[in-house]
Amino acid sequence: DRIVSGEANELDRQFELSLRPQRLSQYIGQHRVKENLKIFIEAAKLRQESLDHVLLYGPPGLGKTTLANVIANELGVNIRLTSGPAIERPGDLAAILNALEPGDVLFIDEIHRLSRTIEEVLYPAMEDFCLDIVVGKGPEARSIRLDLPPFTLVGATTRAGSLSAPLRDRFGVLLRLDFYDEASLIEIVKRSSKLFEVEIDDEAAQEIAKRSRGTPRIANRLLKRVRDYAQVIGDGTITVAIAKQALELLQVDRFGLDQIDHQLLECMILQFNGGPVGLDTLAASIGEERITIEDVYEPYLMQIGFIQRTPRGRVATKLAYEHLGYTYNDEIK
Ligand code: ATP
Repeated sequence: DRIVSGEANELDRQFELSLRPQRLSQYIGQHRVKENLKIFIEAAKLRQESLDHVLLYGPPGLGKTTLANVIANELGVNIRLTSGPAIERPGDLAAILNALEPGDVLFIDEIHRLSRTIEEVLYPAMEDFCLDIVVGKGPEARSIRLDLPPFTLVGATTRAGSLSAPLRDRFGVLLRLDFYDEASLIEIVKRSSKLFEVEIDDEAAQEIAKRSRGTPRIANRLLKRVRDYAQVIGDGTITVAIAKQALELLQVDRFGLDQIDHQLLECMILQFNGGPVGLDTLAASIGEERITIEDVYEPYLMQIGFIQRTPRGRVATKLAYEHLGYTYNDEIK
């Protein structure tokens, strides 16, 4: 497991629950998303209707599941959590929908992984709060319509582009979560330190925030490792010196890059003269899948301006050269 991966691992799942904000006011950053949600939630409550279906999309670890829980809490309803791959048969979905109370939130993580058949069951459920069930077989088969309680579907995906157009069109509210800025991450690190009951200096919180790749899950994971280090090496307080030493040991550099990022960038710089290099060629050179580079490695490197996507392939930028200590030659570019 990469320490700087946005995906959750088993350990994250164990401690994250205690760190999860419960209300919108505790949900740090993502101001545009929160402003929108606040209005939609208020309006739904005023009209005493269920909230429109919400699609949350963005890289892993930015707080989609957390936000779905926050939405349910703000609405004062129950939440039922499931995921695209977990719903295998139409009957699975029918059972889940049938058990909902009026106004409840149904959260489907990785919604882009729902099968077409399941999607088709979902359409009338989302649109008219009903299920079309086929009973009987062969010439006897007929379709009956079952009414469902009104509910809010909250879908989450890291790949909004992979969602079928008919499914996407049935969401009334589409919200993109962006990587967090440094100030928000500092706030998240400080909030989590309080919940962990550990003292942390402002500068140390900033040091962790800077290396968290804009991702709260990574910030919390780094904080936890730094806390262990502070307890073993120091007196438990996280000072900036302790934070730097611990992060050095974890091999997370000051931009939050690890060995794999370095390897990828070095490959572009040394083997391909900085690019442009096609994604497939790059994938073969570092022994990775194309989709892993696209979904896991590249988004953050693009966000910080180390890689650019051009029609002829990926290019390592001057910033990347400088960060890795190579000379950038403008003229040959
Ligand atoms: P995945 O889909 O990979 O599970 P996610 O986007 O659903 O990722 P969450 O599980 O919601 O991510 O968030 C990861 C952790 O980050 C949460 O347990 C929570 O502690 C923290 N977190 C996320 N967003 C925020 C936030 N806005 N403020 C404070 N903490 C946050």
